Amino acid sequence: MPLLRKWWCLLLLENYSLDSYRKVFAHWTEECKVFLAGHHVPVFKLKKRKAEEPAEMEPSDTTPRQCMANSILACVYQISENTGQRLLYPEEKLVEWVQCNICKGWLHTECAGKPFVRAGSFNCGCTNQVSCNRTIEALKSGTQAVISDGEIKMLYKDLCSGRVKSGRMYLWHNPGVSLKLKQRLKPLMFHFADAQVDELTERIGSCSGINELIMKGEFQFLDLVFDVLVPEVTIKVLEKLEGMNRYAAEKAMLQRIHLYTK
Ligand SMILES: [Zn+2]
Ligand SMILES: [Zn+2]
Repeated sequence: MPLLRKWWCLLLLENYSLDSYRKVFAHWTEECKVFLAGHHVPVFKLKKRKAEEPAEMEPSDTTPRQCMANSILACVYQISENTGQRLLYPEEKLVEWVQCNICKGWLHTECAGKPFVRAGSFNCGCTNQVSCNRTIEALKSGTQAVISDGEIKMLYKDLCSGRVKSGRMYLWHNPGVSLKLKQRLKPLMFHFADAQVDELTERIGSCSGINELIMKGEFQFLDLVFDVLVPEVTIKVLEKLEGMNRYAAEKAMLQRIHLYTK
């Protein structure tokens, strides 16, 4: 056990740079000092913690459900492949599920997007052709035509309050949870044309009040715009104009769709 802890401390020291994760680093430096001085109190509670993990099964289920979004690392309750423990929103006790009536796969309702979940009629998008034609057409009149200022404000409010759950938002608040997952959830590319990205980020910044914070030098909010709000707005647009649920929108984004004609 002490050896394992030592290895863990050293691993953490290697993984966190001084600049970005000073707090975590400082904590583990203290931990190491105490350990090396031989005053460390070992932790023997691992088994108990596992038993307290929120139940992810219905009481009548015999096999554990796997959220389909987990395999593309887009599940809002993403499970760590190393530990099998939930990485995101671990405090959330009540997780609801929905089953696709075609492929019979399961999704958390948060991963499907709550507005898409209606009893008996959920389709995860497994048989749908990915098309962005309606969005491309609407964008000819500017980004206002695909999402209004009011909708951006509402989305930002819902993400901040947790009414809409997002792995990206959770990781912005808790970057130390998984740097690998944080990296994966960064947009692979901008799905909008360059001029549209400029317009959209300007509007997101002013609707959320983030522009003022950035002007004051709080540059960490740039990440909030680019890593969280741009992809969340993209999902919202795909939900609204293309009828994709949240999971289908995440898959489409991974396929590097373009919301403009090349
Ligand atoms: Zn999920
Ligand atoms: Zn399906």
